[in-house]
Amino acid sequence: MRIDLHAHSNASDGTDSPAELVANAVAAGLDVVALTDHDTVAGYGAAAAAVAGTGLVLVPGAELSCQVDGISMHLLAYLFDPAEPAFAAERELVRTDRFRRGRAIVERCRELGAPISWEQVERIAGDGSVGRPHIASALVEAGVVASVSDAFTPEWLANGGRADVRKHETDPVAAVRLVRAAGGVPVFAHPGAVKRGRTVSDAVIAELAAAGLGGLEVDHVDHDEQARARLRGLAAELGLFTTGSSDYHGSRKTVRLGEHTTDPAAYEQLLAQATGAAPVTG
Ligand code: AMP
Ligand code: FE
Ligand code: FE
Ligand code: ZN
Repeated sequence: MRIDLHAHSNASDGTDSPAELVANAVAAGLDVVALTDHDTVAGYGAAAAAVAGTGLVLVPGAELSCQVDGISMHLLAYLFDPAEPAFAAERELVRTDRFRRGRAIVERCRELGAPISWEQVERIAGDGSVGRPHIASALVEAGVVASVSDAFTPEWLANGGRADVRKHETDPVAAVRLVRAAGGVPVFAHPGAVKRGRTVSDAVIAELAAAGLGGLEVDHVDHDEQARARLRGLAAELGLFTTGSSDYHGSRKTVRLGEHTTDPAAYEQLLAQATGAAPVTG
């Protein structure tokens, strides 16, 4: 069983449409793929339709933007009821603020001499939940930087960078409770991704575990071996399962679908905890 529990479509900052993502998951030899767009479930319908007849299992999910002590972090949520009003309202709040913040970042980039425009970012983002990767693509188009990852530097869009503007991000303890109340299973995404900025302490992770966190994403491109070993130990201590995932973003990142995968036993634990929705079997 090849299980990849973290992938983005163009409903957020990936470049594949949900249907293309499904086709690429099949081509990559995956048995299970989770669709985890940032703060949105807009890709669910198209992804579920595309799965029919493929044999692939689609796990509907999302990746919620959170912040604690000024540190941004991501919470993956799986198999929640997308119609549950409290969690739906929080996703909507984050998505709406992404527009205000996106415009402010474009303004900052222009002040710093980058010839990009909001119209250009809107064209790149399409209907997607707008984020820094779309602005990064605009900076690439404008010839300001050579690649999307080159835009995530202190000079431009990195956390705390010259053109970074914060968005509304949910308190993670509240987020864990929202996901559970919607029948979903919360998993801390790339908790040791130090290259993205400051990471949260073990004490905060323990607090999240006490609030109902289900697992930690351990095998991830942004974790070195040392980080993985440390997180595996912490997960065992706190009674959390561990996952491995690609965090695929199509051509916006170099990582490939299935580059990291989740152990079937951990996937079974996730399924056993979910009450808000069921996987879609093609
Ligand atoms: P936003 O959701 O708008 O705050 O942007 C965060 C997104 O930017 C993440 O989900 C990643 O897709 C991307 N990102 C963050 N840090 C980096 C980085 N160092 N290199 C490339 N992409 C990054
Ligand atoms: Fe992303
Ligand atoms: Fe993330
Ligand atoms: Zn992600």
